[in-house]
Amino acid sequence: MAKPMSDKQEAFLRKLASERLAPGTDRSIVEANGAEWLERMLGQLNIVSASPIIDAWLKLPKVVKTKPVHVPLDLDDIPLGMHVGMDGEFYKVGKTRKGHVVAKRLDPRLVASTGNKRGAFLYVGQTPFRSKIITVDTVMTAAQAAQFGGTWGFCVNCAAQLDDPRSVAAGYGPVCARNNGWPWGNQKTTRRKAAGDQVTRRTAAPNAVIISNVMQ
Ligand SMILES: [Zn+2]
Repeated sequence: MAKPMSDKQEAFLRKLASERLAPGTDRSIVEANGAEWLERMLGQLNIVSASPIIDAWLKLPKVVKTKPVHVPLDLDDIPLGMHVGMDGEFYKVGKTRKGHVVAKRLDPRLVASTGNKRGAFLYVGQTPFRSKIITVDTVMTAAQAAQFGGTWGFCVNCAAQLDDPRSVAAGYGPVCARNNGWPWGNQKTTRRKAAGDQVTRRTAAPNAVIISNVMQ
């Protein structure tokens, strides 16, 4: 039986494998067969059988490892303003002073427990965009905003307590209604009057969120 391959042979084969057969290359035998394959193969080689393998691998060209392609998210497509995330949480999407689209998460339980009218939006950056929790389709509707206000007693957009009777009735305040394209004031009565005329319902269009709704 032939002697086991030398340490030098083994080191050289490992170097060749990493340069020419490594994961991320277009000839990734190691990747296709698993790291165990390489170990098993090296374990079977002896001082004689290692030699032709070295010769064969030396004939392979060195390859540049391909870097993983980073696909940038097109965050400009995501409407600014309030969103109900795929996780059921409430998010505010806005732009930083540098123009980066970022998100904050509103924790209504935290607001309710502290009585804190502001500052309960927790910065979560761009993570919800990458994990598809916030998408172009998750914009909060006026009905969802109204339901939130009715449940928690404060405006979902600014976390301010609803004490004005009109705001309590709507579920959000007038400024936030304007900034998010939510109906406000006599629009409801107008709609009721116009209902018989088959006038298009005035609901919050997802893209009606205006840019000036900056992060608070
Ligand atoms: Zn508000």
